[in-house]
Amino acid sequence: MQNEERIWQLVDTRRADYEGLADRIWDMPEIAYNEYKSCDEHTHMLQQEGFRVTQNLAGIPTAVMGEAGDGGPVIAILGEYDALPGLGQEAGVAEPKPRPGDGMGHGCGHNLLGSASLMAASAVKDWLKENGIKGRVRYYGCPAEEGGAAKSFMVRAGCFKDVDIAISWHPAAFSGVNPALSLANTRIDFSFTGRASHAAAAPHLGRSALDAVELMNVGVNYMREHMPSDARIHYAMLDAGGVAPNVVQATAKVRYAIRARELPELWPLIERVKKIAEGAALMTETTVTHQVISAVSNLLGNGPLEQAMQTALERLGPPPFDEADEKLADKFQATLNDEDISSAWRRVGLPPQREKSLCDQIVPLDAKPAPMMGSTDVGDVSWVVPTVQARGATYAIGTPGHSWQLTAQSKTPLAHKGMVHVAKVMAATAVDALSSKSLIERAKADYSARTDGNPYVSPLPENIKPPIKPRAA
Ligand SMILES: [Zn+2]
Repeated sequence: MQNEERIWQLVDTRRADYEGLADRIWDMPEIAYNEYKSCDEHTHMLQQEGFRVTQNLAGIPTAVMGEAGDGGPVIAILGEYDALPGLGQEAGVAEPKPRPGDGMGHGCGHNLLGSASLMAASAVKDWLKENGIKGRVRYYGCPAEEGGAAKSFMVRAGCFKDVDIAISWHPAAFSGVNPALSLANTRIDFSFTGRASHAAAAPHLGRSALDAVELMNVGVNYMREHMPSDARIHYAMLDAGGVAPNVVQATAKVRYAIRARELPELWPLIERVKKIAEGAALMTETTVTHQVISAVSNLLGNGPLEQAMQTALERLGPPPFDEADEKLADKFQATLNDEDISSAWRRVGLPPQREKSLCDQIVPLDAKPAPMMGSTDVGDVSWVVPTVQARGATYAIGTPGHSWQLTAQSKTPLAHKGMVHVAKVMAATAVDALSSKSLIERAKADYSARTDGNPYVSPLPENIKPPIKPRAA
């Protein structure tokens, strides 16, 4: 099925191996910078496929890269394999049923993300060889997308500097080209230090770090009225200074996530939040320090690559879901409310079709999607290399991101079909770029026009390093 083009046959022959890889990664969910076993699985697959493998990419032990082919342009296909905490769930079961274990789960479908990308890269490797074409294909196994921004560190380390184009995808409810609409984002920890004292006997001697955090949060809440309308700021308390109300809290720590439509809008917001923190410290006679934890850029689109990927999608047609897949998707939709489902349609720019639980079409390139208010570290790659991303239908329409329903569906026959389908889309896009120099040239011209006068500056401060974790014994 859907194998008229040789590249699609080369994807399809790998079906069993890569469904197996995706399922093994699903079975061993590991979170940011702890993806040792998942990275080992991807490394073994790269070796088995005959790629030249570079481990410990950018000094990150859970990042890996494989390259095949000689000379010519370099096509990078990016994958991920990190899981999320609190989303452990039995596969294929349409009711909340946590798996035994530490609660980790693939609630963003990254078990499929890495497998499809490696599958596509492997098919392109064979296609290059069969056709005797000069060119290289690389698979980048990128850790810690969730809250870890590993790709920002990989970009800063120069991992993509000789790459001509980059291709990736993300699991979704629909098949189409992923519009470049993510937000730039940074996470910063603010730590306040005051002075402890007996809160009843000597309150005048205490200086409360917790008061400072509260005042900072109030200050930032007042700032919201005066920010760009699509900026976002959220915070979480990391340390409230202890559990004893009769001790003036000498330390307190709050983590801020600050998001803006584009990097140039993000910088001034960060400076304003820092001023508010300093103001809170001044008011409370405490001191404050801050530490950037991660930072990612907004996505930069690329017209020629998006058009090429859309053409590949239209040649291929929608994912070949069958009746059993629809039945399963119906069961998951039954756990959602109408708003979840209709807003999923509207977010991609299509009128809701309530009778459909699975995608049976290709989202047109001119659909008007709602802007994506999340962030992805693919953004940083897109600022240094012309980049395109697909969305691949791998779950029931309306399934919320980061949910037990998403974990449950990411190891099912319907997820497998969606994964193989999107691998074909990415591989065909890569083959189109390798077959005609003009696509790469047009993609580069589009990239230059978008970055002209607005060059990439890494949002990561120079002194911060990826928070890598040691391999568990
Ligand atoms: Zn994700």
